Amino acid sequence: MNLILSKYHLTTDLLDEFGFIGKRIIFSTRSATSIMIDEFTYQNLQESKLNQIDVKTLKTLIEKEILIPEEEDEFKYIVDVNTNFKLDENFLSLTIQPSANCQLGCHYCGQVHTKNYANDAVIEKYEERVDHLLNKGKKYDGLSITWYGGEPLTGYNAIKKASQKFISLCKSKGMGYLSDMITNGLSLKPSLFEDLVENCLVTNYQITIDGDAAYHDKRRHTKSGGPTFDIIMQNIVDVTNTKTYNDKNCNITIRVNIDKTNYNSVNSLIDIIKEKELQNKISIYFTPVVDFGGNDAGKESLKMNDFANKEIEWLLKCYEYNIPISVLPKRTYSVCMVEKEDSEVLDAFGNIYACWEFPYSPVYAKGESLIGNLFSPSETYNRNATLRNWNEVLESGKTWCKTCVHLPVCGGGCPKSWHEGTPACPPFKSNFKDKLLLDYYIKKTKSLPANE
Ligand code: SF4
Ligand code: SF4
Repeated sequence: MNLILSKYHLTTDLLDEFGFIGKRIIFSTRSATSIMIDEFTYQNLQESKLNQIDVKTLKTLIEKEILIPEEEDEFKYIVDVNTNFKLDENFLSLTIQPSANCQLGCHYCGQVHTKNYANDAVIEKYEERVDHLLNKGKKYDGLSITWYGGEPLTGYNAIKKASQKFISLCKSKGMGYLSDMITNGLSLKPSLFEDLVENCLVTNYQITIDGDAAYHDKRRHTKSGGPTFDIIMQNIVDVTNTKTYNDKNCNITIRVNIDKTNYNSVNSLIDIIKEKELQNKISIYFTPVVDFGGNDAGKESLKMNDFANKEIEWLLKCYEYNIPISVLPKRTYSVCMVEKEDSEVLDAFGNIYACWEFPYSPVYAKGESLIGNLFSPSETYNRNATLRNWNEVLESGKTWCKTCVHLPVCGGGCPKSWHEGTPACPPFKSNFKDKLLLDYYIKKTKSLPANE
């Protein structure tokens, strides 16, 4: 079998200035692993002179899928592997947005909030729908629920009632049950957190903080303009100090939404996290603000290259402070829920969607984006709802993804962004050279195998 260099690879430049004379790091997006190689090997790889490469290195290059069979259609191979992975997935994943309400008035949010919460009749329908999807045909071993909003904790009663139904249902079927929540963190007091963990099995939380108090409070204020930073940060400190947080292996991930108006406060936020001794208790990631249903929220976005450069600075600072970060992307077998037919978003009114940014959005809540409503017969459901055709979009070449070497780790970013006409490429596309070097440095200083 003839082997050739996979097109799905990325490399740094030569790393002489960092003390690695005549070397570079090569990263396979097919296997999401990297290796440092010398220039002689790299040139031989490019020129297919494999007989010039020693056997041990060749073996590693094959294992990492940097060398692949010459006759292979690589795009087809990636699509096939992804399809099989999705067929093998054994947990049914749903997102439930049990409240249309939120206490905050963030300028970039594309939802219209109302004081509507899933009532008992809707919760009954949630259970019926979950039972139906679990019995529909595919063999599942468990159920995974993400609670989202509005602010999900404003619908806490519905979460508690629905969780108890789901947990009992899974127990009766001998299935596993997992749950996580995307919350603004304002109501997440330790007693509520402990109740959520013990009774609703919600163990993972994502909370957004947009910089230090001065910046965060200008963006993530209450509807009446009140500050929220100090309350949310104290909640995180108190929750992570509970015995439950440690005993049940809970995790809070802090998300930071960044544009030109707050990027200067990210370093200060990282300092605060350290001062409050939250390192080793939380993890963090940084993301650009993007448009939400045509609301132009991304108009103040940093240029992708500028964001990517700053991201490296923030990641390095987090690493120096021992704050857990993820530097390199993992292999992505599924872009998100939109391409999984059984994965649905259910809102407080019983509406069903494919994407979790659709409920409560004036642009997406009705029309072609709506799959149907839990109170209507399933025969009336729209099987071709907006974004469910992501695989066709990908294969058609309408986006840049079909020919992009990042595809195996990116998956296409966010189908909704492409649908809105905005390329969904992540910062990794701009800063992968720096990230490969940072990842190498981290693994070396932690004495992990540097070629993994
Ligand atoms: S389409 Fe984008 S916003 Fe919607 S669920 Fe997928 S990644 Fe999230
Ligand atoms: S979203 Fe961008 S980086 Fe990701 S696969 Fe598509 S073109 Fe490549």
